[in-house]
Amino acid sequence: MVLCSRTAVRTTSTGYINWIYHSYQKRCIHSSLWKSTVHEIKIQHKYQHRSVKTLLSTLDINQPLASLTSPSCIVPSFYKRAYSIHNDSKIASKGNIKPDTSSFRPIIRLPSMASTSTSDPAPSEPAPESQSESRYEPRYIDVGINLTDMMYQGFYHGRKVHEVDLENVIQRAHAVGCKKLMVTGSDYKASVHAVELAQSYPGVIFATVGVHPCSASELIKTAGGVSNIRAALKDIETLALEGKARGTVTAFGEIGLDYDRFYLSDQDSQLRVFEEQLRIAEKIDLPLFLHSRAAEEDFNRLLFAANLPRKGLVHSFTGTLEEMHTLVNAGFDIGINGCSLKTEENLAVVREVPLGHLQIETDGPWCEIRATHASAAYLKNMPSYLTETVPKDVKKERFQLGMRVKGRNEPCAIAGVAWVIAQVKGVTFEEVCERSWANSMNMFRYDEAAALQEAWAKENSNGTDAVAVAAGGDGA
Ligand SMILES: [Zn+2]
Repeated sequence: MVLCSRTAVRTTSTGYINWIYHSYQKRCIHSSLWKSTVHEIKIQHKYQHRSVKTLLSTLDINQPLASLTSPSCIVPSFYKRAYSIHNDSKIASKGNIKPDTSSFRPIIRLPSMASTSTSDPAPSEPAPESQSESRYEPRYIDVGINLTDMMYQGFYHGRKVHEVDLENVIQRAHAVGCKKLMVTGSDYKASVHAVELAQSYPGVIFATVGVHPCSASELIKTAGGVSNIRAALKDIETLALEGKARGTVTAFGEIGLDYDRFYLSDQDSQLRVFEEQLRIAEKIDLPLFLHSRAAEEDFNRLLFAANLPRKGLVHSFTGTLEEMHTLVNAGFDIGINGCSLKTEENLAVVREVPLGHLQIETDGPWCEIRATHASAAYLKNMPSYLTETVPKDVKKERFQLGMRVKGRNEPCAIAGVAWVIAQVKGVTFEEVCERSWANSMNMFRYDEAAALQEAWAKENSNGTDAVAVAAGGDGA
């Protein structure tokens, strides 16, 4: 049985790493799978347990294939099992082996382990032995997540309620299959913070840089008047360009108009700051992360008049069917989160969003799916395996590290968003996950960005690998 690159066991267990390492030595997997796995292991090492880290320090994953001749670093029982299967197969020349499934979770069908694996041989994998346990293991990208929000530092309305648990939030996202997070920058300070997060989690977190419509008045006030908007936005432009070059910034935003919240920012300020940021967008060649609320006419007028090198995503979409069609026809994607699934009218719009223009997000800590929402009924038949790693939520006052907080949305809830969309649209869950994954990867080019991050980190660490396996950060 050939386990080709399109049929991968996606887990971070030592058993899997052992197996894939061994398979690579035996030349029975495509080298691109090994490379993408190494890349993933490097990115994910900070989530893993000590045993995985210890194992990785014995497998020199940077060594070229030729020097990997000794199986001594393979756990003996695993090696024995793999070797006997290898012999039994009587196709030693191809070196096909099966994984020792006793040491890790069931084999999962995953269409493509790495989005860049287009050079892999065509899939020819029959169903794994444990057919009953074969199921689609989802992967998601939360393209709109406000990880810079103080709630993830334990602050609510300026009051410290519990300890910081941002790391746990990111780990929980990872555990459900939410492999990439695009953290929203809503003003200069939040954008800097988002970029810092991207630097701390290479290949996992990416940032947007921009000024949210609700921060427009504040920007003008700080700048000392409307005549200084351009100068005030210079820092934002520089931050976006620097981040783009280093692979930490993958979108310009959040920019747009919000006519539901004039109490935060008046209409004139919003229009001026949006327009000025569209001028920046024309220059910097980044896709847009857009916000439009009750402002369709002005929003479309300004957006469509701009000479944009790249389109973008209109996130947290709550508009009408017509509005959605107009944006999609103009080449924009639609971002769906819990707020987009609140009412039957919302669901009727989501039903019509073409899969080729759909992306998913949580917009945490906001926009969770609530019991009172029209979407909640669809969650009742959601398979438990999709959320089995998600701990229960408690009131913030009863918080203990490792638990979720009631009412505070977070990226691990993205499974629910994808599930509801699939039910509403009448398509498979897998299709929603895979199409939205592909749309996000195409628009925001996370692979290119991750490569830039890695190159930049290497350049700035005197030749040593900045994401070396020996680095700290034990997964709790
Ligand atoms: Zn927004």
